[in-house]
Amino acid sequence: MDLRRIQSDVFIVGAGPAGLACAIAAARQGLKVEVIDAAKPPINKACGEGLLPGSLDSLAALGFDPKRDLPHTQSASLEGVRFVGDSTSSKRQATVQCNFPGGSGCGIRRTVLHQVLLDRAASLGVCFHWQNTLRSVAIDRNLATIHATSRTFHTRYLIGADGHQSRVAALAGLTGSTIHSRRIGLRQHYTVAPWTDFVEVYWSNIGQAYVTPTSSNEVCVAFVADKKFASPEDALAYFPTLRHHLTASQPNGPPRGSITLGRSLRRVTTSNIALIGDASGSVDAITGEGMALCFRQALALVSALQSDDLSSYQSAHRNIQRIPCLMSRILLLIGRSTRLRAQIFSSFERNPALFSSILQLHVGNHASHLFGEDGLLAAGLSLLTS
Ligand SMILES: Cc1cc2nc3c(=O)[nH]c(=O)nc-3n(C[C@H](O)[C@H](O)[C@H](O)COP(=O)(O)OP(=O)(O)OC[C@H]3O[C@@H](n4cnc5c(N)ncnc54)[C@H](O)[C@@H]3O)c2cc1C
Repeated sequence: MDLRRIQSDVFIVGAGPAGLACAIAAARQGLKVEVIDAAKPPINKACGEGLLPGSLDSLAALGFDPKRDLPHTQSASLEGVRFVGDSTSSKRQATVQCNFPGGSGCGIRRTVLHQVLLDRAASLGVCFHWQNTLRSVAIDRNLATIHATSRTFHTRYLIGADGHQSRVAALAGLTGSTIHSRRIGLRQHYTVAPWTDFVEVYWSNIGQAYVTPTSSNEVCVAFVADKKFASPEDALAYFPTLRHHLTASQPNGPPRGSITLGRSLRRVTTSNIALIGDASGSVDAITGEGMALCFRQALALVSALQSDDLSSYQSAHRNIQRIPCLMSRILLLIGRSTRLRAQIFSSFERNPALFSSILQLHVGNHASHLFGEDGLLAAGLSLLTS
């Protein structure tokens, strides 16, 4: 290996939340970081735009003070989750709500969050190369040579943060995966004073719509379903209670769509290459956990880079994914059965502490190492249907 050819310690493909979080975590440890992205800022994406309390804890571990660093006029505090039952269903479905145990979350436009992360990365000396697409990679022991659109880079570690269709994963032979679910998301902003400081999830037989306030005069609505909606208006026809809330509002900007996958990769590392964020597997959007996963993985990955042991990231990654994957599967199961939904919502109504415990499991620190995955699924379902 010719050490003189190494230009960076860490080279990241993709400047979404995962790539930026990884860049920040690595630069904070004194590593030299370069990032390429095929796009250029502002980088936008269809997203529900909710950061659950666990995401804010991980942002704090990345050096952010969410109260100080997330712009107040362009974000909104989230106090809990409200499930709004299907009003068109023949079986009565309750509306149930629960405050987040132990802290608030935050609704923030994707582009605003991106700018906050980008500014921090740049201030830590991270070097960005925009409108640069990864073409190919060559690995020679500890040196990765990366060919991108505009030039060639040499690095010690290559990180794929390039989303679902990761080219890094394909080039590194890391695409072996199990797909648990595949749905279609559609996001639309509306100009309206939020009527709630909760993340509201509206359920119907066709899918869910969830509302996240993102400022004092805007909400973000994400529709997620098995079918593709022609437009937000088309989607709202399945959610009459939500449509009623939005009667006096105006759509703000164009809608944006995206696939959302529940997907587990068999491996997320090989030699000096690692995957992070959606490139490394994902959970259905309904969990609201996508960005939290990116932030947690970034912290775990940089800790592995520091000890020069990517195998520790492989096992940390598995632990980080476990509960969100389980929750994703449970929420999809609830979504598919009107009967189960009616049963569960009425259990929550009778026993609010049950909803609180499950929300704690979803947003809090996970005791996943105590159970196997199937044990967790069984425990979760028996809790829900008790
Ligand atoms: C409808 C919907 C709603 C959601 N709601 C929420 C929510 O409320 N809360 C939450 O936490 N999560 C939510 N998520 C999930 C969240 O959006 C994702 O988990 C998150 O965006 C993953 O970030 P990422 O950085 O891994 O990937 P991405 O955001 O996809 O970023 C990947 C980047 O890589 C770049 N790239 C790709 N290929 C190349 C290449 N070959 N060369 C160079 N650059 C490349 C792209 O330009 C892009 O900028 C939602 C997702 C959907 C679809």
